[in-house]
Amino acid sequence: MSALPRKLTSPTWPTGLSPRTGRPPRQDASEQPDQFRSLNASLLYCPSCRVATPTRERLLLVLPTGNLYEYLCLHCGTSTGSKTDNR
Ligand SMILES: [Zn+2]
Repeated sequence: MSALPRKLTSPTWPTGLSPRTGRPPRQDASEQPDQFRSLNASLLYCPSCRVATPTRERLLLVLPTGNLYEYLCLHCGTSTGSKTDNR
């Protein structure tokens, strides 16, 4: 009895690529530092993240003397600072 030689018929896709789309999985949007730069260039220390994080500026109060802005951590939303915009 002789074993018949078998052809390997499994397709050879590049590792890490999906056979359907042929593209690597999409990156998470939070891993693109360029988006943060356009929002706010300043980094403020966040007590929750324990690191200086990009901030989002939010208008908190409109006062006769100026606008009070609050800075929120982009990662967790913790308030990391505030400023008054004197007019
Ligand atoms: Zn944070």
